[in-house]
Amino acid sequence: MCCPQGSSLPSEPQFEHTILHPLEFSGTGLHSGVHVAMRLIPAPAGSGIVFRRSDLDNYEIPATGRNVAKVSYATSLMRQGVLISTTEHLLSALIGLGVDNIIVEIDNLEVPILDGSALPYVEAILNSGIKRQRRKREYLKILKDVEVRDGSKFIGVYPGDGYSIHYAIDFPEPIGRDTFIGDLEAGDYANLIAPARTFGFREDEAMLRDMGLIRGVSDSSAIIVTRSTPDKPGSVQNGPLRFSDEFVRHKVLDLIGDLALAGRRIWGRVVAERAGHAMHTALVQRLLQDRSAWVLAHRYDEVAATAEASEPSLSSPLLHASHA
Ligand SMILES: [Zn+2]
Repeated sequence: MCCPQGSSLPSEPQFEHTILHPLEFSGTGLHSGVHVAMRLIPAPAGSGIVFRRSDLDNYEIPATGRNVAKVSYATSLMRQGVLISTTEHLLSALIGLGVDNIIVEIDNLEVPILDGSALPYVEAILNSGIKRQRRKREYLKILKDVEVRDGSKFIGVYPGDGYSIHYAIDFPEPIGRDTFIGDLEAGDYANLIAPARTFGFREDEAMLRDMGLIRGVSDSSAIIVTRSTPDKPGSVQNGPLRFSDEFVRHKVLDLIGDLALAGRRIWGRVVAERAGHAMHTALVQRLLQDRSAWVLAHRYDEVAATAEASEPSLSSPLLHASHA
């Protein structure tokens, strides 16, 4: 067991990790509204993150870009017609805590939404413990710029040290514009990102329901916002917010979860503007297709010999918000 409670990252990021004990969750799928029971099970080094549908003969779907299905309001994986929907918050928690290998056993087609954030996963995993494995962790080291543009939406990944994220949002008021800048490698994911909840506008609810979405939404699983009009300022319907910039922090949470589908933790710099699941996963697919854009590398080889006495402080809150 490596991690005292409250510590965000494993103390030995050069190695792979799994969870120490199985953990159980149950709840409702945000979009399908189905009831789901889910179990996180420790997995051997080198096996990655694998979903397993216990209701379909334990059919397995590895969490990789190859298995990304249609993506709009949530990220879904599909393999030979078998679906796992809304994977992003759980995957974000696993990457945020440095869990490389795990089996996610689930008895239905959608990961439970819980409180709309990654916090329930993070608390349970940190309370139960994370286990260091013998195998050295391979990072997806970015070698050249890869960008995806769609009108005013943009996402790009660039060579750089650590795993830095610059995310800018621009929603209708009262959410408006905001920016978050931080580095997952050095920052405190558990406290600064994991608690940020998903959100939606009350005015979009009927349209989303007509599309067969958000059948499982409730006031306790998402921040509900009303849009500002010329006559009346919009507001948060079920406050208080957990952070004044909770919306952009949630987009960072989603980004980390979606980029987990690259199959390895990113070693580079990510910039996103007005992006969402479709842009996040498009970047993963473009990245995986361009074999010259990255290399698998052991992140700490070059510093391990010299930096033993000056390990970076893993609990210092280097993630910070910068308001536009
Ligand atoms: Zn989300």
